[in-house]
Amino acid sequence: MSTRASEETPPAPPPAAARSAELYARALPLLPGGVNSPVRAMRAIGRDPIFVARGEGCELIDVDGNRYVDYVCSWGPLIHGHAHPEIVRAVSDAAALGTSFGAPTPGEVELAAEIVARVPSVEMVRMTSSGTEATMSALRLARAATGREAILKFAGAYHGHVDGLLAEAGSGLATQGIPASPGVPEAAAKATIVVPWNDRDALVAATNHYELAAIVAEPYPANMGLVPPQPGFLELLRERADHNGALLIFDEVITGFRVAPGGAQDRSQVIPDLTIMGKVIGGGLPAAAYGGRRELMERIAPAGDVYQAGTLSGNPLAVAAGLKTLELLDATAYATLARTTELLADGLREAIRAGGWFGRAHVASVPGLLTVFFRRDRVKDYADAAACDRDAYAAWCRALLARGVYPPASQFEAWFPSLAHDEAAVERTLAAATAAFAAIDADGSGA
Ligand SMILES: *Cc1c(COP(=O)(O)O)cnc(C)c1O
Repeated sequence: MSTRASEETPPAPPPAAARSAELYARALPLLPGGVNSPVRAMRAIGRDPIFVARGEGCELIDVDGNRYVDYVCSWGPLIHGHAHPEIVRAVSDAAALGTSFGAPTPGEVELAAEIVARVPSVEMVRMTSSGTEATMSALRLARAATGREAILKFAGAYHGHVDGLLAEAGSGLATQGIPASPGVPEAAAKATIVVPWNDRDALVAATNHYELAAIVAEPYPANMGLVPPQPGFLELLRERADHNGALLIFDEVITGFRVAPGGAQDRSQVIPDLTIMGKVIGGGLPAAAYGGRRELMERIAPAGDVYQAGTLSGNPLAVAAGLKTLELLDATAYATLARTTELLADGLREAIRAGGWFGRAHVASVPGLLTVFFRRDRVKDYADAAACDRDAYAAWCRALLARGVYPPASQFEAWFPSLAHDEAAVERTLAAATAAFAAIDADGSGA
């Protein structure tokens, strides 16, 4: 109860970011870099991390009480925003029945049926706890099914921190991967062939030259910023995989259940052999999956001989969150998310003009995803993305955070609008974005 006296003498508010700073100082000697996953540290935009107290719909509230319109949304899973009451209830109802059994439960059969109903390529599915694990398992299956070892991936694509896929290309031509991190065996990276995204000639050359177990691709890459395929490129992937005798694997960890009910394959009607899913499928709890044609998936133990297992796979809490998340994703939801993304993307294009950045920044978008690239020309591959003005992006992000908008803290990540982002939130975002563009020019940090 507030009394007149206490209203007259409010406690002095803590200095901005005091508690975040304190927690970061405590975290640094306890957690590498003070965090449990690198981008959260915000080093790419030259500032310290923000410690989160809670989320509400489209907003994050940090430990210092600052509110932000959140466009990270846990890097994709929160398509319904934070703490959606029905999802929270589904999880707590499940938790009351026991958190894990290491035995089958009814929910996972329902979730599998729901996935199969939505994703064109998937007849059978195996749940895992992370996208990384799902990728690793899909590659093992592809190698078992083809009797081959080499995997073709695209430069700038991210498929989790799987050893062999932490490999990057040189420039231009297809190259055999060199490890992108210490600790990755050379042999693992060597089995990875890296080709520039959207480069038809390099793809044809590589698929003529190497015997591949699989071509793995994010159908709409979103880990070098959002770089959609050029017309016909996904069709070429399908054709070249068939020509080569390789499986085509779509990593739909980001695009799955987001860009359309059945992901990018649903939108493009290019159907892969195997599909990797994650993020949205767990509704904010740890869940991922891989799936495909029955005859391939029946190679997985105990139906078949390819071993793969997980103590928490198909965890009942994660399954409950995933099921409720999918249940709430009806046709209306997809139309709404597409419209919100369009409002935001068009508004950001206008903010670029109004803020004085026309010709120096642009927006790439598909329903549910967008990236503001600090570069004049359209980004078609990783080399283009890497050529963006990352200092300007960093300055703009810092300016957005100061104005109550929480963007992904890297030029190489996508924005994740959610169904909790209403028009008022988008308007607040666009006002902040315009002011942030003007501010970074005014203080010279982006010029
Ligand atoms: C996030 C991501 C992964 C890895 O998923 P984790 O759950 O973080 O292991 C794999 N592929 C893509 C496309 C991703 O965006």
